[in-house]
Amino acid sequence: MIHVGIGYDVHELVVGRKLILGGVEIPHTKGLDGHSDADALAHAITDAVLGALGEADIGHFFPNTDPRWKGAPSRVFLEEAARQVRLRGGRLVNVDASVIAEAPKIAPHLAAMKAQLASALGLDPRKVGLKATTNERLGFIGRQEGIAAMAVASVDLPE
Ligand code: MG
Repeated sequence: MIHVGIGYDVHELVVGRKLILGGVEIPHTKGLDGHSDADALAHAITDAVLGALGEADIGHFFPNTDPRWKGAPSRVFLEEAARQVRLRGGRLVNVDASVIAEAPKIAPHLAAMKAQLASALGLDPRKVGLKATTNERLGFIGRQEGIAAMAVASVDLPE
């Protein structure tokens, strides 16, 4: 039985942080702020996978009050979501995600991000859809105050 899930995340762009998206460090003047490495793309995909399982969100599994997750690479969250699928005898079918960022240019990094995400999820990279778009200079994303990501995931679960 195919189940789908949706995920969305946003983090603030601040000076003095590395910009990590999809497990890849992207050179930029600012980075995403957060308790972990603040990888909004990895977080959106994690929530999509957990959502397909009917589970609570990433904050339930990895509270941002827990010092264990301070500065944590978000790969850990993706790996745990994939493990939750296997625990239920399920199989992750595919994920698809979009990054919404005004700057820097994300496109040159998409292939590397896709490889990182696929490896963390135990998926063939061909089953990881990944796109980047700007917000047409509108709103907080357009003002380069933050970066957002949205994702869907499909999981095949036993009845
Ligand atoms: Mg997040």
